[in-house]
Amino acid sequence: MSFALLHRIELKRDDMVALLQDLIRIPTLNPPGENYREICDYLEKRLKPKGFDCQLIRAEGAPGDSDTYPRWNIIARREGTRPGDCVHFNSHTDVVEVGQGWTRDPFGAELEDGRVYGRGACDMKGGLAASIIAAEAFLEQNPDFHGAVEISGTADEESGGYGGVAYLAEKGFFDPSRVQHVIIPEPLGHDCICLGHRGGWWAEIETKGEIAHGCMPFLGDCAVRHMAAVLDLFEQKLFPAMAARYTEMPVIPEGARQSTMNINSIHGGQPEQPADYTGLPSHCVPDSCRIVIDRRFLIEEGLDATQTEIVELLEHLKATRPGFDYSLREINRVIPSMTAKDAPVVTTVHGAIHDVLGQDPIYVASPGSYDQKHIDRIGKLKNCIAYGPGDLEMAHKPDEFITVDDMMDSAKVMGRSLEKLLLPR
Ligand SMILES: [Zn+2]
Repeated sequence: MSFALLHRIELKRDDMVALLQDLIRIPTLNPPGENYREICDYLEKRLKPKGFDCQLIRAEGAPGDSDTYPRWNIIARREGTRPGDCVHFNSHTDVVEVGQGWTRDPFGAELEDGRVYGRGACDMKGGLAASIIAAEAFLEQNPDFHGAVEISGTADEESGGYGGVAYLAEKGFFDPSRVQHVIIPEPLGHDCICLGHRGGWWAEIETKGEIAHGCMPFLGDCAVRHMAAVLDLFEQKLFPAMAARYTEMPVIPEGARQSTMNINSIHGGQPEQPADYTGLPSHCVPDSCRIVIDRRFLIEEGLDATQTEIVELLEHLKATRPGFDYSLREINRVIPSMTAKDAPVVTTVHGAIHDVLGQDPIYVASPGSYDQKHIDRIGKLKNCIAYGPGDLEMAHKPDEFITVDDMMDSAKVMGRSLEKLLLPR
């Protein structure tokens, strides 16, 4: 293997840190989706002099897109001198809210003891910086390469990716005719290959009742009691059934290898009043109660069976419980995605981890989801993984950081992967 490339990446350590610091100092908070244009302009300014054609694409009409908060994305492509595959690195540029508990400036990008601190350091501006350094080093070392290298910075991953990768996939940017290998540098760790993620189904269930005076509840029908029956049935039947199902996917952490469901919220009867309200509640039987469920399902279960299982429990109550009526409204759905272990991008990165780190990778899958879902379902591109530096448990936390060593290792693996995919054998 080419030690020259690894050495070249090593020499870019300070450049990589400075690049990450610049990226952190552009606060791309989502919501509402701030500074997306600024970070795209920054990336264009960085990549254009390196021979990349840059397209800035606004996801017009996507959820959240407005003139105040436009959803800007960048796709930068550098063509090789001969025909071949295109390797695409996709990073989201948005970061989540800061939250409480920081002892550092969340947008100061302080470097201390080999760590860079800041919101987005780990999730995932560290990965973006590492992939840029890997690509730049590869291009300097191998100006005569086959195919193409693409780097994208996309919006809104933290809120579903509809103004980012989903939009670009709809426009054909992830069509297998123009992109053949996708690496998403999410923070899974420098020695892990993430093959995909579980599915998700979000829905609101409402039970119905009849309003009446609270002193004569028998004249009405209490929607909250009906919801209690729903939750009781979930406890008796649904949760035990889900806990008995395990996926073959290497989902981490271990608890997420089961099928899971969170009851996200419950609301019934009168709306809650502000904390400084001093009045008393009026006496009414609630005629509506709503819950939002967050059901994470396994690739082996599938979406249809997941929905049917819940509908059947609700229909059972409708058939057996006097006065029971309900409605169900889907809020969102995510189809599980799993790239095969023998897919070219997987075997390539496997080999690169072996070359650079002298060990075999750990295969993992994500308990939540990330932009692979859009590349798979809309782009119809199956040759996609997440591979990048950082500790996933740092994501969204106070004092978020990434270590420079981790970024270095990942950049070397990414650079080595480019050599394997884009140089003649
Ligand atoms: Zn992320």
